[in-house]
Amino acid sequence: MGYYSIVIVIISVIILLAVMISLALYISANNYIKKHSSEIYEKNEPLSSECRDLASFLLKQQSTFKRYLAENGLTQTYNCSNSVLSNAENNPIKYLIKYSDLDYDIQCLEELDFCETFSEKLGIFYEKTDELYKQVSKTIPNRVYIFLPKEKFFVKICNIDLSFFPQSYPVFRFLYISPAGKSQREYKIFITTDVIKEIKSELSRKLNKYSHAKVQRNTMTNDLRNAIKKRDNYTCCICGNSIYKEPNLLLEVDHIVPISKGGKTEADNLQTLCWRCNREKSNN
Ligand SMILES: [Zn+2]
Repeated sequence: MGYYSIVIVIISVIILLAVMISLALYISANNYIKKHSSEIYEKNEPLSSECRDLASFLLKQQSTFKRYLAENGLTQTYNCSNSVLSNAENNPIKYLIKYSDLDYDIQCLEELDFCETFSEKLGIFYEKTDELYKQVSKTIPNRVYIFLPKEKFFVKICNIDLSFFPQSYPVFRFLYISPAGKSQREYKIFITTDVIKEIKSELSRKLNKYSHAKVQRNTMTNDLRNAIKKRDNYTCCICGNSIYKEPNLLLEVDHIVPISKGGKTEADNLQTLCWRCNREKSNN
C-alpha cells in the first residue's frame, strides 16, 4: 500500500468513528429526553404550564386574529403614489387608518380590542418560552442540550409545536411603483401591539367626535330654531340685517363654536345669521 492510501484509510476511520460517536450521543440524548421529559416539565412549573396554557389560547384564537386584521384592511399591500408613501412615512398611524378599511364604530373597536389582547399574549408567550428554554438549559446535561434545539424542546417537553405560531408581525405595506415600472419603493408598518393601541385610541377619539356631531345635530329642532330667531329679534348677529328691513330675508341659526370643534346645540352657542353671513362664515 502506498503512503496516500494509508492516509485515506486513517481519515476514513476517523470520520467513521466521529459519525458513530455523534450517533451514539444523539441516541443517548434522545433516551434521556424520553425518560426525563415529564420530570423536566414538572421541575419547571409553573412556567412550563404557563407556556402551555398560553399556547393553547393562542392556537385557538389566531385565526380570528388574522381574520379581524384582514377584514379591517390592516394586512394588505396598498398601491399608492410616491407622495402618499412619503406622507405615510411621516405619519404612519394617520395614513394607516386612512387607507385601511376600519369603520368608526363600536364593533371595529371591539375587534381591535381582541387583536390587542392577542398580540399582547403572543408577546408574553415568546418571552416566557425564551425564559423556560434558558431555565431548562441550566438543569440538563450539556450532552443532551446540544441535541435539543428550541423547536424540538417545546414539542418534546411541553407538546407545543412552535411552527404553528406566527413568526413575524402582520404587516401593512404601502407600495409605489413608478409609471414605467422601473423603480419601486415600499414602506412597511408592522402591526405590533403598540400600533394596535395607537389605532384604537385614534379611532375612539374619532368615534367620540362622530357621535358628538350626531347627537348635536339631532338636538337641533325647528322649535329651537324658531326660539333663537325670536330671541335675536329676527336680526342677523353679524350684519344687523333683519326681516323688518328685508321681508324675504332668509335667516339661519348658526353654531358659534362649530359642532366639528366640539360646539353644542345650546342657546348660548347659537345665533341668528342671514344666509349671506352664514355662507361667509362657513367659507372661512
Ligand atoms: Zn348678515
